[in-house]
Amino acid sequence: MSARIVIKADREKPIINQHPWVFSGAIDELKGRPAPGDIVDVVSSKGKFLARGYWNPKSQIQVRLLTWHDEVIDGEWWAKMIARSVASRRPLAVSGGAQRLINAENDYLPGLIVDRYGDWLVLQALTLGIDQRKQEIATILADLLQPKGIFERSDVDVRFKEGLQEVTGVLWGEEPPELISVAVEKRIEFIDVRKGHKTGTYLDQRDNQLMLSDFLSTDPKWESLRLLNLFSYTGGFGLSHVGTVTNVDASFEVLELAEKIYALNGFPEPNVEFIQADVFEYLRDTVDRKIQYDVVVLDPPKFAHNAQQVDKAARGYKDINLNAFKVIAPGGYLLTFSCSGAITRDLFQKIVFGALADSGRQGQVVRYLSQAEDHPVALTFPEGEYLKGLLVRVF
Ligand code: SAH
Repeated sequence: MSARIVIKADREKPIINQHPWVFSGAIDELKGRPAPGDIVDVVSSKGKFLARGYWNPKSQIQVRLLTWHDEVIDGEWWAKMIARSVASRRPLAVSGGAQRLINAENDYLPGLIVDRYGDWLVLQALTLGIDQRKQEIATILADLLQPKGIFERSDVDVRFKEGLQEVTGVLWGEEPPELISVAVEKRIEFIDVRKGHKTGTYLDQRDNQLMLSDFLSTDPKWESLRLLNLFSYTGGFGLSHVGTVTNVDASFEVLELAEKIYALNGFPEPNVEFIQADVFEYLRDTVDRKIQYDVVVLDPPKFAHNAQQVDKAARGYKDINLNAFKVIAPGGYLLTFSCSGAITRDLFQKIVFGALADSGRQGQVVRYLSQAEDHPVALTFPEGEYLKGLLVRVF
């Protein structure tokens, strides 16, 4: 019989409501001797079955719940859930071959991320429970999707909280090429699954990147719009634009890759520049020099990693949004994001409003944005929503 975790009477509600995390503070008693990573039953103070999940005593989140039914968690269960997640995504022809197939807790598979890049899969194991089962999961994925190879990118610091080290390498099949190319709508993306950010690229911004070029393409002056792409990474927000693009990022390495991607897409060289700079400084300088852009994209890294960092992060967001408003030509646009889970959508909008007010400009929200649709948010797991964005028309 599985070990049993008895939950404190006043902490049952979220579990019954299918929130996937059981924190150590909610646990009254452990009955039995599970090994770390084992499947355990979660029961009420009266001994009633509530849920079942995998256990890790090293983590603050001691159990990640997999099911709320009294069903066996075996290879068949994993295969069924993985197939459900994959089947829920748009067909390859529509997605262009690069998409998130499994979005961890949000696909009811806590700790597991799987992305597809053409014939290759990239797997990220965020927890001990997944780390222990990753070979089995790789085999299931291989049977289901017949990829050429499955590469592991478990080099994320949340693993330390689980008592794990960072790991990368081939999990199954062949070594991926240096760059994997995938065609997405009219453009070709080149992804470095070994060194690229996240599992290779920011798939969560894909829908917003394509939205921006569609949106701008209806502007009669599309071909002459000057786009300033700040925190550009490999330039995804500018790649489908037909006017001029200035990509700014602090990392030389990512800009090198960006340059290669633009060249391979046949983007006219005189129309694009790649600038290695700190965005905070670059924007101040642009304000001083009175240079203007028609569209500014602001997609910074996570400024707030927890609730304690919210105030400082808010000042950072305010600073860059304020200076961005100052450099936008009348009638232009700001596309601004925050990927900090600790900053709510409401707070983010307030910060952007404060920046607008200080800039003396007028602005209106024309789109409310979030992460791409292949990064769904489970309604039972509000933590799954982290990316929020606003497309603002600026007068
Ligand atoms: N917009 C990108 C993703 C941006 S991720 C896309 O759609 O693909 C954030 C990027 O900001 C990273 O590439 C990182 O190198 C860069 N970065 C982090 N801090 C920075 C800073 N202070 N100035 C400039 N770039 C920075």
